[in-house]
Amino acid sequence: MTHMMHMMPGIPTHLYYVAVVTVMIISFALFVKFPGRSKDPTSYRKLDLLRWSWLDHLVKSRMVQTGLRLFLVFLFLLIILTGLFGVQDPGRNLSTILTWTIWWILLVLFILFAAKLWCYLCPWDAIATWIDKLHLWKVKPSVFSLQIKWPRQLRNIYLATFLFLVLTWLELGWGVTTKPAITAYLALLILFLAIFSAVVFDRKSFCRYGCLIGRISGLYALISPLEVRARDTEVCALCKSKDCFKGNAQGYGCPTYQYLGNMEKNTYCIMCMECLRSCARENTTINLRPFGVDLLKIHQARTDEAALVLIMLAMTSFHGLTMTPLWFSLTDRLQQGLGVGYTTAFTIGMVASLLAVGLFYLLVMATTWIMLHKELPWRELVLKNAYALLPIALFYHLAHNVMHFAMEGGKIIPALSDPFGWGWNLFGTAQYPVGPLFSIQAVWYLQVLFIIIGHVWSLYIGHRVALHLYGHHKSLKAEFPMVLAMITYSVLSLYLVAQPMEMRTSM
Ligand code: SF4
Ligand code: SF4
Repeated sequence: MTHMMHMMPGIPTHLYYVAVVTVMIISFALFVKFPGRSKDPTSYRKLDLLRWSWLDHLVKSRMVQTGLRLFLVFLFLLIILTGLFGVQDPGRNLSTILTWTIWWILLVLFILFAAKLWCYLCPWDAIATWIDKLHLWKVKPSVFSLQIKWPRQLRNIYLATFLFLVLTWLELGWGVTTKPAITAYLALLILFLAIFSAVVFDRKSFCRYGCLIGRISGLYALISPLEVRARDTEVCALCKSKDCFKGNAQGYGCPTYQYLGNMEKNTYCIMCMECLRSCARENTTINLRPFGVDLLKIHQARTDEAALVLIMLAMTSFHGLTMTPLWFSLTDRLQQGLGVGYTTAFTIGMVASLLAVGLFYLLVMATTWIMLHKELPWRELVLKNAYALLPIALFYHLAHNVMHFAMEGGKIIPALSDPFGWGWNLFGTAQYPVGPLFSIQAVWYLQVLFIIIGHVWSLYIGHRVALHLYGHHKSLKAEFPMVLAMITYSVLSLYLVAQPMEMRTSM
C-alpha cells in the first residue's frame, strides 16, 4: 500500500475547519429563519416519468432488463474468473480494481440519483432468478423453490446489518480489497446466499431481508429523487385483484412484499418493475421528486433501520480512520499493551468505534430528552432522529472513496486490456501510463464539498424532524444538542479525509 498525503492548496487546513463550521452555522440559521411551510411529508411535487410512452415501454420491457442483466452477469463472471485465476496483484487484477475502486463509489452515486436501480440490474439476483425459473425473462412459476416463508424472527434487517459488519471486518481487518481471490470468493458467497434463498424461501426474501447491499442501498435510496409508487392510492383501495402484490401473467407479485396502496418509502422497493408490468389499471409509475423527501416520513421509523443508520455512520468514519497513521499507532499500542496480534487489535478498535458513535448519539439524544423535560417517549426520539444522519453517512462515503477513485481508478484502462495480468493486450491499452484521474487539490475540494453537503443536508432534516416532534416553539431548543454534534462530526470528518491515506494498490 502507498501513503497519499493531502496537500492543502492555498490556505492552511485549520481555515477549512473554520469555513465548514461557518457554512453549517449560517445554513442552520437560514433553516430557522425560513422554515418553509410545515407540510404533510407525504405530499410533494412529482413528475410522472412514465407519461412518456417510449419510457414506459423501455422500463417495462423484460428483454431490455434481461439484456442489461446479461451484461452485468458477464462483468460479474469476469470478476470471479480474474479474481480466482489472475495474478494476485490488486493493482493489475481487474477484480479488485473494478469491484473496490470503481463499483464501490459508482454504486453510491447511482443510488443517490437513481434509487435502487442497481437491483434492477443486479447480477446476483439475475443468476438466482434464472436458476429458480429456468428461464431468462418469461413470467414462470418457480421450478425448484420450496417457497418456505422467511423465518419470523429474521423479518427485519439485522441479518443484513450483521453481514455488513462482517464485510467491513473482512475489508479492513483482512484487506479483502487488496486480495483478488478473496474478492471473488466474497462475490461467490453472496451468489450462494441469493441462490440458496431463491430455492428455499418464497419471493425474493434474500433481497428483502438478507442482502447487505440491498438493505444499505435501501436506506440511501430514501435520499434519491426517483420512486416507484401508485399514481392514485384511492384506485388501489378499490382494486380487488391487487395484482401488484399477488402477481399475474404479466408480472410477478411484489418480490419484497410491498403493497403499492400504502408504500410510502423507497427502503424495500428493489425497482424490479414487476408492479409496473402487473397492474392492469396502469396505476403504477416512476416519479421524479425532490431529493430526500423519504427522510421526512419519520412516522414509519423502525428500530432495525435506525440501528443500521448509526452503524453505517460509524463504519464510514471507521473506514477513513483505518487508513490513517493515527490508526496504526493506536493498534500498535493495543498490540503491545495487550500482547495480541493485529487482527484482535483491529477487532477491538472496530467494536470501540461502533460503541463510540452509538453512545455519542445516545448522549446527544439524552441531552435533548432531558432539556425538553422527557416530553416525548425516549424510543420515539431516538428512532426518528437517526434518519437525519443518513446524508452525513452517504456523503462521507463519497468523500472517502473519491480519493481511491481519483488515484487508482485509471488502472482500469490497462486492466481492461490485460484483466488477468497475464501480459495480454486486448485493446492496445495494457501499457497505458496510469496517473491520478484528477489532481490531489481537486480531490480535496470535492471532499470538502461532499462533507459540507452531507452535514448541511442532515442539519436540514434534523431541523424538520425537530419541528415535527416539538413544534415551532420548542424545536430550536430540541435540536441544539444535535446541531452541536453534527458540527463536531463535520470537523472530525474533515480531519479524517485530510490525513495521509493508504491506497489499496501500489501507485
Ligand atoms: S397498484 Fe394496481 S394492482 Fe396494485 S393495488 Fe393499486 S391498482 Fe391494484
Ligand atoms: S414490485 Fe414494485 S414495489 Fe415491489 S419491489 Fe418491484 S418495483 Fe418495487
